[in-house]
Amino acid sequence: MSEGISTSGAAGELQILQLSVGPLEVNCYVLLVGDRAVVVDPGEEGERIAAALRERGASLEAIWLTHAHFDHVGGISALLENRPEGGLAEVPVLLHPADDVLLKNAVAAAARWSLRIDAPPTDTMPLEHGQVLELGGVRVRALHTPGHAPGHVAFHVQEHSVVLTGDALFAGSVGRTDLPLSDGPQLLDSIRRELLTLPDETVVLPGHGPSTTIGAERFGNPFL
Ligand SMILES: [Zn+2]
Ligand SMILES: [Zn+2]
Repeated sequence: MSEGISTSGAAGELQILQLSVGPLEVNCYVLLVGDRAVVVDPGEEGERIAAALRERGASLEAIWLTHAHFDHVGGISALLENRPEGGLAEVPVLLHPADDVLLKNAVAAAARWSLRIDAPPTDTMPLEHGQVLELGGVRVRALHTPGHAPGHVAFHVQEHSVVLTGDALFAGSVGRTDLPLSDGPQLLDSIRRELLTLPDETVVLPGHGPSTTIGAERFGNPFL
């Protein structure tokens, strides 16, 4: 089962489905505007994500990655193979280039946890800080939030008061910084600069665990 939120804005209805996928229970988010969909962090279970698209008659326009740790990228290949429209259209995979090295090493990183993932495609389209993405008229801004991973980004949907924070910010916690290429002080800097400056009522949809709000984390998160 998936849960989700639905919000209306000037550009129309945005529906966000949340699917918890894989052994590390990554939150994969499906953004839907009409019959157009973007999938954020298809970490595992690509077939199940594709089925959720098919159920809603939606076609996959792009895959956006918050970062390239193996638990966030293991479902990309199966999603691309099983997507409703089949192998005809090219679906871009967007990633900040500072995480290319993590993407290339994702299979080996999973193996260190004794897990096996399908090799993700490594020909990505580069995301940059401040880049405005678009889905069916809804604008989404990429916020470079390095620290947990060097190319980590959050996706802010201002007109719907939602931010997808990946593994930078969780309800009551922040991302791990004991991993290769992680940087603790940089993570706290990123969160303070790019996330805590958003309005308090902004709904936070993190890469693991339950949703929260910027205000709740500003006042109650013991790591900040
Ligand atoms: Zn991560
Ligand atoms: Zn993760």
